[in-house]
Amino acid sequence: MDYSLSMEQEILRNSVRQFAEKEIKPVARELDEKEMFSYETMKKMAELGLFGMFVSEKYDGQAMDYLSYIIATEEIARVDGSHAATVAAGNSLGIGPIYYYGSDVQKERYLPKLCAGETLWGFGLTEPNAGSDAGNTQTTAELKGDEWVINGSKIFITNGSTRITAGVTALCRTGTRDDGRPELSCILIESGTPGFEAREMHGKMMWRASNTSELYFDDCHVPKENILGPRGNGFYQMMETLDGGRLSIGAMGLGGAQGCFEMALKYAKERVQFGKPISNFQVNAFKLADMSLEIECARLILYKACWLRDNDKPFTKEAAMAKLYCSEVMYRCANHAVQIHGGYGLMKEYDIERFYRDQKLLEIGEGTSEVQRIVIARLIGGL
Ligand SMILES: Cc1cc2nc3c(=O)[nH]c(=O)nc-3n(C[C@H](O)[C@H](O)[C@H](O)COP(=O)(O)OP(=O)(O)OC[C@H]3O[C@@H](n4cnc5c(N)ncnc54)[C@H](O)[C@@H]3O)c2cc1C
Repeated sequence: MDYSLSMEQEILRNSVRQFAEKEIKPVARELDEKEMFSYETMKKMAELGLFGMFVSEKYDGQAMDYLSYIIATEEIARVDGSHAATVAAGNSLGIGPIYYYGSDVQKERYLPKLCAGETLWGFGLTEPNAGSDAGNTQTTAELKGDEWVINGSKIFITNGSTRITAGVTALCRTGTRDDGRPELSCILIESGTPGFEAREMHGKMMWRASNTSELYFDDCHVPKENILGPRGNGFYQMMETLDGGRLSIGAMGLGGAQGCFEMALKYAKERVQFGKPISNFQVNAFKLADMSLEIECARLILYKACWLRDNDKPFTKEAAMAKLYCSEVMYRCANHAVQIHGGYGLMKEYDIERFYRDQKLLEIGEGTSEVQRIVIARLIGGL
């Protein structure tokens, strides 16, 4: 077995790390406080090539493997969850479905600008009454002549209402199957289409500098050709997209945990109580040892899942495991890190306070931890 990264992957990691330290870290706390999506850092991330990383050169992508994209996401998450969310949702959820299921016309129309980071695209699965039970989608799309007429709403959609959002992919009921179950299809809806409104959501505890939106469709007409792939394949497309998306949530857990660990180690060596650095107390040193151990395990499980994906092998179970494990590792690391910071860890002037809040989403978004356990249990024959 060869655990080494390629030279290109090492170079990518170093360049994204330097970029994140220089361009994101200095502004992350203020953006979080102001609950502000930054078009400036978005532009810089785009210039670095953080969008369309796994897309072929034909559509102006970076033509890298999935692991490289995951490493880049991990490095952004090491300094800030919100920016990592913009990148992860932009790639896995925004670009992914169009790239993997879109027609040539759709790909040519949307991908070049998405890969350049000039535009973003939302992934509209969740609804007010269809969260974990995503198959219970209520939004409808009725074919009338040459157009789909869409009615319904979506909630919590990342990158759904920025100034540069070019559109969203929405899962809709397009009919009823012979067995009585709903027929679900994905439809591409461009921003600015009459009857489509995207409203930014405020008041988040975490990822406060990432854009989260409610989408409303009120007799929204889009051309018949805007269906993504064959009619009735929508649920399958969304679930397959989430397999890849879960790896990027895993990357956010891993990178975030790494950030927590580094902050805790630095603080524990600097903070003196009872005449010595608090890292000299075994209870704190053991916390740091546990964090380091779990981060190592998280990296192994996540990179293995990426390796499976890059080698066209089944990876649904491993993606669920990586998502579940990495997010829970970040939870434990953030908790330990705040504990090591004592009272200062609860103050906004310390970045660990933001990491402690940001980690919570990872156990909820793209399938909660409970849902990941259901996926794993089913795939091992336990359910
Ligand atoms: C900041 C943010 C960004 C997001 N971005 C997107 C996005 O871009 N696109 C998108 O489509 N969605 C997005 N989401 C939505 C997210 O994926 C959902 O919140 C998540 O899937 C859970 O759905 P829910 O919130 O409706 O919770 P519910 O499904 O109502 O779950 C509530 C609780 O019940 C548990 N539960 C539910 N069913 C079961 C079961 N069968 N067995 C055991 N326990 C169960 C859950 O695990 C959870 O603990 C985002 C959410 C947030 C907060």
